[in-house]
Amino acid sequence: MKISEIFYEKNAAGKPVVSFEVFPPKTDSGTQTIYQTVSGLIKQPDFISVTYRGDSGDKTSEIAENIKRQMGTEVLHHLTAAGLTLSELTNILSELTNARIENILALRGDAASLSGDFPLAKDLIKAVKSDGHFNVAGACYPEGHVSSPLDTENLDHLRQKAESGADFFISQLFFDNAQFFRMNEAAKDAGISQPISAGVMPIMSVANVERLIFFGASIPTRLIKIINKYKDSPEDLRQAGLEYAFHQLDDLIAHGVDGVHVYTMNRASVANAVMKRYL
Ligand code: FAD
Repeated sequence: MKISEIFYEKNAAGKPVVSFEVFPPKTDSGTQTIYQTVSGLIKQPDFISVTYRGDSGDKTSEIAENIKRQMGTEVLHHLTAAGLTLSELTNILSELTNARIENILALRGDAASLSGDFPLAKDLIKAVKSDGHFNVAGACYPEGHVSSPLDTENLDHLRQKAESGADFFISQLFFDNAQFFRMNEAAKDAGISQPISAGVMPIMSVANVERLIFFGASIPTRLIKIINKYKDSPEDLRQAGLEYAFHQLDDLIAHGVDGVHVYTMNRASVANAVMKRYL
């Protein structure tokens, strides 16, 4: 099923689309854990997105295909443009069509130094869209992309992705909902009518937070205090991180967002806690 149809149906019923993100683990046992997590969920989310590294060992397609075939859950296959040629893209799209994958999140990727036929995400969005088989999503940035923090540029880049054919958007993670509401409103005011899903990641560890500064997500004082309070107690920090994420999700849903996209970090406990709360 095309994910824009899911947005249409759920939003018309006044409900947000709930999605999870998983990443392909490096080991086979890690991959099995993903399947166990997904099949063990008390309820399936509206779709599951699977991230992409783009190297030879990448298991994105295999995992996305298995989740869709075995669990019957809709999937969003991430794909990056960095270093990708047109003929490689043609082959990938044909394999994904054969695997009955219908939705692609088209990204530039972070290895921007690799030359390819698609310099920016909008170029990949246009190419995937013109294939005719796929719903195409794009990424958006409530606090601006780390390399381009100007608000005006941020909105302009979002508009270009929309005009290139993006059917919906998924946001970078953020911890301050006001940042998302501001971008969401600016996008709607600018005539961008495609649904935008809000990206939320429960904090799971101090190391986790340290890595997040590279995504450009600002950390509100309330969250810093939580991290400081529980920094020597990993289990308490995980619980407090999940509760903070629930506050964010409750508030986003109360504000009528189109969707919430939870970065579950392949953790069954997080995925199940979210589904229990938002059944
Ligand atoms: P673009 O929109 O092309 O932006 C790239 C840079 O160019 C930005 O600095 C932007 O401001 C600038 N820019 C955009 N348009 C223009 C223009 N017209 N003129 C000049 N500059 C412009 N990475 C992975 O490798 N694998 C994944 O699976 C993955 N999943 C992601 C999922 C989500 C929801 C998000 C938010 C990010 C994900 N990323 C992933 C990271 C992503 O690849 C990086 O954020 C990357 O740096 C930018 O990707 P983009 O698609 O937004 O690129």
